[in-house]
Amino acid sequence: MNTKIALITGASRGLGKNIAMHLAAQGVGIIGTYHSRADEARVLEDDIARSGGRAVMLQLDMGNSAGFGAFSQELKAILTKTFSCERFDFLVNNAGIGLYADIADTTEQQFDQLFNIHLKGPFFLTQKLLPLINDGGRIINISTGLTRFCSPGLAAYATMKGGLEVLTHYQAKELGARGISVNALAPGAIETDFGGGLVRDNQEINQQISSATALGRVGLPDDIGGAVAALLSDGTHWITGQRIEASGGVLI
Ligand code: NAP
Repeated sequence: MNTKIALITGASRGLGKNIAMHLAAQGVGIIGTYHSRADEARVLEDDIARSGGRAVMLQLDMGNSAGFGAFSQELKAILTKTFSCERFDFLVNNAGIGLYADIADTTEQQFDQLFNIHLKGPFFLTQKLLPLINDGGRIINISTGLTRFCSPGLAAYATMKGGLEVLTHYQAKELGARGISVNALAPGAIETDFGGGLVRDNQEINQQISSATALGRVGLPDDIGGAVAALLSDGTHWITGQRIEASGGVLI
């Protein structure tokens, strides 16, 4: 079977869900993960099945690397059972949480949580899954515009994403020998549940960001789903080790 298969973490809602829908529309088989929202995960499986695609959602806690071995075994079984193959092609490290706290108020517990989910998780999940990724495959790490510009209250979060961008460079270098390209996609502010849905629900913040954005609005999930699908399409494999920002030109 020649169908490409993508593993997308945090696919139950927001950007991950939209990325899954865009890739499924391109004929890519979807394996997604959810953390707590099994209900949303089932909705996505059904939506993709209804539109003629295939999606399987698995539970994963990105903050608990001790579970990655069992997850990789589960993934292996799904690849065989549902997709009749042993490996997949695209890994999108997307799952994440928003957490607002000034540097003076950030607790070690908050810092560790962000570190585990946004940096340690992608590092060791990718490590664990390397044997299951086809040579010539691709990895996209979802970063943030906040590594280029600063917004108060997001220091710890942005620090982890900065680390993820450095990791992206190293992954691109080391995995190049297997023909695997690795890039970081950095979204600007997008209307999702992220950080309590602040960008979507707070009109003042929404307007403030829109007025600082070249394209005159905040981002929508489709802006990111489309960008990731483009980066995983035929013809873009030569792009590797790059940070690509999809922010509508915020603060340029
Ligand atoms: P979202 O709507 O809140 O969705 C978050 C997703 O991550 C959900 O699928 C959630 O699963 C999953 N998740 C949360 N904690 C997890 C954990 N501990 N282990 C595994 N999965 C977990 O957020 P989003 O806007 O789609 O954000 C997706 C990514 O984009 C994040 O990495 C975020 O940092 C980045 N980003 C977002 C924005 C933005 O403005 N939205 C901007 C730049 C970058 P459940 O549904 O099961 O809870």
